[in-house]
Amino acid sequence: MFDKVLIANRGEIALRIHRACQEMGISTVAVHSTADEDAMHVRLADESVCIGPPASKDSYLNIPSIIAAAEITGADAIHPGYGFLSENDKFAQIVAEHKFEFIGPTAAHIRLMGDKISAKEVVKKLGIPVVPGSDGEVDDIGEAEKIAKRIGYPVIVKAASGGGGRGMQVVHDQSELENAIKACKKESGAAFGDDTVYLEKYLTLPRHIEFQVIADKHGNVCHLGERDCSLQRRHQKILEEAPSPALNSDEQSRMGEVVRKAIQGLGYVGVGTIEFLYENGEFYFIEMNTRLQVEHPITEMITGIDLVREQIRVAAGLTLSFNQEDVKFSGHAIECRINAEDPFTFVPSPGKIGDYHTPGGLGVRVDSGIYSGYTIPPYYDSMIAKLIVHGKTRNECLMRLRRALNEFVIDGIKTTIPLHQSLIRETDFINGAYDIHWLENYLKNLAE
Ligand code: ADP
Repeated sequence: MFDKVLIANRGEIALRIHRACQEMGISTVAVHSTADEDAMHVRLADESVCIGPPASKDSYLNIPSIIAAAEITGADAIHPGYGFLSENDKFAQIVAEHKFEFIGPTAAHIRLMGDKISAKEVVKKLGIPVVPGSDGEVDDIGEAEKIAKRIGYPVIVKAASGGGGRGMQVVHDQSELENAIKACKKESGAAFGDDTVYLEKYLTLPRHIEFQVIADKHGNVCHLGERDCSLQRRHQKILEEAPSPALNSDEQSRMGEVVRKAIQGLGYVGVGTIEFLYENGEFYFIEMNTRLQVEHPITEMITGIDLVREQIRVAAGLTLSFNQEDVKFSGHAIECRINAEDPFTFVPSPGKIGDYHTPGGLGVRVDSGIYSGYTIPPYYDSMIAKLIVHGKTRNECLMRLRRALNEFVIDGIKTTIPLHQSLIRETDFINGAYDIHWLENYLKNLAE
């Protein structure tokens, strides 16, 4: 097992990884920008190294600085968390070349899945159903028109290298197609340095359901069930729940097995998430994330498995500490992402936190790096806390979530707590009757 792990991230996920390491007797190295000197991940880590100025490109994305920090501190392994360098195949490669263990899959698997076109091709061959669309890249408008006609409007133009909800354009009829392709190419060229785009059928009322997998270096793969992440704004997840209110346990185990076999066929190692759109009882693969996800705690709550601990264990070459038959699902869990933003306009609200009180009690977990007197810097993602609640039933979970949100105090800045408080009171949410457009429609109605 590793003696020392460098955590190449910040915020709640850096803390989450630190906690797993501590419980495994592994010491931690935090890296941070000059804007994060007072951050909790820096305060709690055994050692810390400043790796650059506030801008992410000069610090949390600065590969030479991170490698130097690992060398100076004598770390054995590097955990990338999510975001930043977590799905950067070059980083994984460089980490390996410097003889550190990358706590994640191989660079080759990251590259394969990072290109949504190659990812789709590969998983299709492994028996996973995909969204109907173009066979690979579309470049020529005449050809695009033919494909769109064949799959039927509406269609969605997507960037092969897209991520974070960016690089997507919905097209309702042929007259919009050319401009959408141009716009999508322009956006993804600027954001991802790759303007390859492809076409997919635009599913009108799907849910977003994703399966968690974990694999070790000895060919053992388990799935840990699904998460429903349909509550989204601008393709960004806001609240997630597990299990999905839309699936029964037969569908869960059938699809879980399809996914497990495919990941085994891929020879993949580490944690991963296979994302699907689910409509009319059918699953359609959209992408695979080759890293830990923001919403991983809800899976931990219903399985009792510490995903980060297992992730570190498999990176160190140990076998999974459980097999598929050992995975038992118990109760229901919901996560609310709490952002430093106006709850209804979503304008960012960085600044100094005044009073701070987190909810507690049975089945309540708060993953966050903030504290009273801490100043949220304006340079990074606005998510400042995750409230995760577990109950024996979905109803118990909902009642507990309501209670926990009411207890949560974060003064001095605006947060999205009031949004969560109001949306979980909606009949559709209580009934689990929502799709990926529900939240946008709800927000539109509130604004009117
Ligand atoms: P990203 O990598 O940016 O997260 P994804 O491919 O995972 O992109 O898609 C993000 C979200 O965009 C999905 O959860 C869904 O809401 C929407 N989306 C993507 N593809 C489609 C599609 N073919 N039809 C309808 N919605 C889609």
